[in-house]
Amino acid sequence: MESLKKPHDTLRCIGLKIAPPRLRVLERLSQGQHLSAEDIYREMYQTDRDIGMATIYRVLNQFEAAGLALKHNFDNGPAVYELNRGGHHDHMVDVETGAIVEFESKAIEALQHDIASQLGYVLEDRLLVLYVRRPSASASHPQDSNRTLP
Ligand SMILES: [Zn+2]
Repeated sequence: MESLKKPHDTLRCIGLKIAPPRLRVLERLSQGQHLSAEDIYREMYQTDRDIGMATIYRVLNQFEAAGLALKHNFDNGPAVYELNRGGHHDHMVDVETGAIVEFESKAIEALQHDIASQLGYVLEDRLLVLYVRRPSASASHPQDSNRTLP
């Protein structure tokens, strides 16, 4: 997916007409978090009392169908969406706070290819979610942070 500096162009590029709800959902997703339809609805409702949940779901489904957004169904909450920025990353979900942490690990990527290969397959896609808990109370709870590991 290309740079999203021009939301109008992005929508046109995927064949969707420019409409205020689409632009606003796109702008919100562009901020780089994992958001549920309700998260987006609650924010948009602050400034647009006419917006409805059905509209938000419709826009998110259109974005997902066009490959503009990715939908995740983590175990502990509602489906969340993020902008598809290309490339691949995995997620950790803090089972206590619900915080979603993105990470990339070359070692895990290589291992997944190796496992598929050893069993006679070529890796087509992969989905890895780690459900985690901090060992003890900690002041630091990263929200939607991104970590690159070896
Ligand atoms: Zn993510």
